[in-house]
Order: sequence, then structure tokens, then C-alpha cells
Amino acid sequence: MRKKKRKIINLYHIEKKRKYTNSMKSNHIFACFKKGQLVLCFVAMFVVLASSIALDKASAKETNITGDRLDFTVVIDPGHGGVDPGSIGYKTKTKESDINLAVALKLQEKLEKMGIRVVMTRKTEAGLYGLSTTNYKKRDMQKRREIIENIRPDIVVSVHMNSYTRHNLRGAQVFYDKSSPRSEQLALLIQDQFASKLEKSDKGVAIGDYYMLKCSPSASVIAECGFMSNEEDERLLITKEYQDKIADCIFVGIINFLSTE
Ligand SMILES: [Zn+2]
Repeated sequence: MRKKKRKIINLYHIEKKRKYTNSMKSNHIFACFKKGQLVLCFVAMFVVLASSIALDKASAKETNITGDRLDFTVVIDPGHGGVDPGSIGYKTKTKESDINLAVALKLQEKLEKMGIRVVMTRKTEAGLYGLSTTNYKKRDMQKRREIIENIRPDIVVSVHMNSYTRHNLRGAQVFYDKSSPRSEQLALLIQDQFASKLEKSDKGVAIGDYYMLKCSPSASVIAECGFMSNEEDERLLITKEYQDKIADCIFVGIINFLSTE
């Protein structure tokens, strides 16, 4: 894991160095022509060009990255799907499964932009139980587990929206299994983001005894991103802006986790 952290830092470092080298090139050329010192100008250009080539060679050696991919894998697991809508919006009757997928796709985009490999347990509105709907829940969960076991990711994040019989409960909360300190750490870092950027979400993390949290030795959390049973939360959760905010919180939490491992 230490190697991986170094890779992320190096990626930022290289980007900075490249920007600096480019600005150096243009400044040198401008100064030389202004003074008419052609000889000095050629010398300066040669030095800059040579250092730029050396820098690129050193960077490639330093990072050992081909393309933009980093050596991390995250499984994003949008809860429910198909005949299983999850919870239903109190006022708008929006399906939880649709919001889970929308948030998950936004999160996928953010992680992939950073060069992190992402595997989705589902990419469409369909469930994972196959054609028959008999006993679908068990098969749906087994399929999710099978995907995670095959991929052996660094991180698993299940995305859900909460619901409760009392309509006053609000906010986002992250659940983890008590047997996994790494999962707790990931949960804390995501919850930090929820607490500072989402409404009524400073309640802290919670221990959960869920099947999806016990699927693998990966750091695994369930993000319950707000209550479909609360009118104000529901009003926010159905908007693209708030869904993007949620995805951003999970994204930053994941990056912070990978950086500190
Ligand atoms: Zn759910």
C-alpha cells in the first residue's frame, strides 16, 4: 500500500513540474528577444530543452505508470435494482434504486478521472438476480458477492438511501463492520465529508451487521446518503446537484483513505 500512496503523490508532483517547465520555456524566450541577445537565447533554449527531456525521462522512471492508471481498484455497488426498488420517496415516490445508480455513476466518473480502476456491480436499472424473480433477493446479493470476490478490490462502497417509519430522521451516515479497522477508517473519512458538505449529516459513523460488509477482506462500507422517508431529504436527493455533492463526498473520502494507507 505504501508504494501506491507514492504513486498518487508522484502524479501530482509530475504535473506541477511539467507546468513549471513550460512556463520557464516561454519566459526565457521572451526575455532573450527583448534584449536582442541571440547567443544567450540559444543557450537558454538548449538548457531548457535538455532539462525538459531529462525531466520527462526521470518522471517516467520514477512513477512506472503507463497511461494514467493507478494501481487501485474500487467496487461501487449501487443497492437494489430491477424488481427491487429499495425504499420509495415519501412525496415523489422516486425509487431508491434509481438514486443509488445516479450517485454511483457520478462517483465512477470522478474516480476514473483520477486514474483509479472502478468495477460497478450494476450499471443499469436492472437487478443482478437473472431472469427469474423467485427468491431474487438472495441471488442478487450472491451475485454482488461473487463480483467482489473475483475482483478482490482495495475498497467496496455500497450506495444506498435510508428510510424509516418516523419521518423526521434526516442526513447521511456510513456503516462498517466492527471486525475491520480499515473499513472503520474509510467510513470515518467519508463521514467527515458528509458532515461538512451535506445537510444534517454530523451524526457520526455506525456499526452495521450487513451481508455486503462481510463479502471480502477489502475496506467495505455502506453509505446511506439520506432519508427517502423525510420530505426535505427527498427533495434534495432527487436533484442532480445534490447527487453530485454526495458522490463528491464519497470520492474525497476514498482519495483521503488511499493517501493515508
Ligand atoms: Zn437500500
